[in-house]
Amino acid sequence: MTFQGLAGAHFKKALTPDGWVRNLSVRFDDRGLIAAADCDDNPAQLPVYDNPVVPGITDLHSHAFQYAMAGLSEVRRNPVDSFWSWRDIMYFFALTLSPEDTQAIAERLYLSLLKGGYTGVVEFHYLHNDIDGRYYTRPEELSLGIFEAARATGLDLTHLPVFYAHSNFGGLPPTEGQRRFILGPDTYVRMIEDLKGPAAAAGHTLGIAPHSLRAATPEEIGLLMNIRADILPGCPVHIHVAEQTKEVEGSLASSGRRPVSQLFDLAEVDRSWCLIHATHLDENEVAMIARAGATVGLCPLTEANLGDGIFPAPAFLEQGGIFGIGSDSNIATVAAQELQQLEYSQRLRDRQRNVLAGVQMPHVATNLWSRAAQGGARAAGRPEQGIAVGGMASFVELTMAEPGALPQTDPETELDFHVFGGRGFQVGDVIVRGRKVISGGHHPSEDRIVADYARAMARVAQRLSDRGTA
Ligand SMILES: [Zn+2]
Repeated sequence: MTFQGLAGAHFKKALTPDGWVRNLSVRFDDRGLIAAADCDDNPAQLPVYDNPVVPGITDLHSHAFQYAMAGLSEVRRNPVDSFWSWRDIMYFFALTLSPEDTQAIAERLYLSLLKGGYTGVVEFHYLHNDIDGRYYTRPEELSLGIFEAARATGLDLTHLPVFYAHSNFGGLPPTEGQRRFILGPDTYVRMIEDLKGPAAAAGHTLGIAPHSLRAATPEEIGLLMNIRADILPGCPVHIHVAEQTKEVEGSLASSGRRPVSQLFDLAEVDRSWCLIHATHLDENEVAMIARAGATVGLCPLTEANLGDGIFPAPAFLEQGGIFGIGSDSNIATVAAQELQQLEYSQRLRDRQRNVLAGVQMPHVATNLWSRAAQGGARAAGRPEQGIAVGGMASFVELTMAEPGALPQTDPETELDFHVFGGRGFQVGDVIVRGRKVISGGHHPSEDRIVADYARAMARVAQRLSDRGTA
């Protein structure tokens, strides 16, 4: 599939780092970056976008295969269901998927993400081994399926092969249900080396990801930092941290330190790091992350779905903290819905409205969208300027299902409507690195991708049925 390349565009209303700007002409270079941006009356007659245009958001945390699990875990099976009982279902589900299935699921997900306002994804990839827990002939087999899904859909990919070795703090051995995730350090190094060439050729960014402080010991985290210095210096590093109170208790019991504090003891956490969830923080940890310039990877709908807790966003943003959003378990694929949930959780806790408005950007959706676009780009190891010179030529045109539905048509209100209106977020064109991958709301391979996904779901249904759980 080749996508139409654009040399530039003229935006009647564009969200830039300085706020909304009218009549902006942008030109793209051959790396998919913005080479020039000027307010003018479009003397070069570039393609014109009358609708509001926003920078594409990078979904900074996805486990693609979990997209196919949506709706399968919303039934009570225990006296108290929690993240931990959900995880058992997820482990079981992961044991039903073939390489063909995981690629079809990733393609279907990535198509949905593009139509949901995302132009990039950071795939936190820990499904490595076959159903019996053996390495594939090429241990990176399932990663290559993710590469293919990104190529087929045009979504910008940062790929993080995950190091996963233990079931809990203290280096406990992995459980039987985790067998598809486990890699030895030697295999992990080989996987990174073998993926480096294909990633560079396809324009993907490669990074490092210890799964969590539960799944990697302090010694192994040190080893991963050495691997990073040798093979991928400066690359993005992501880790799940402090998602659940039980995880905080486990960390305190094993090391006497809270998870985020322990992480800062173990590694030089800086702007190239992304701390996924970081839900349960003390004041000192909030300040440490903000000072380091590390991104916090918030996954508001998954965190709500799993009953994780609520991130202390006002204190973090007051200190200049950087965040992005992730679809994580992929129960939802729309950036606007994640931002809505993020704001609503804060409102429910604080019993206030418009909690995450900015001083410069008093419209909540404008502030949240701008910050999430910047944080997502930082976490993905991409330029983070947004719609400005040096930024990615990746943007989303917002359209209205019902023209004339709004009494006010300033772009701030239109974006608030898309995020909080509850009547559906809708895109027109989606441009990724200067290429039009969604045109008028449609992807050129949409029918094929949807059909492949349906065939994969039929295979999975058969396997679940064979195991007596359908
Ligand atoms: Zn996750």
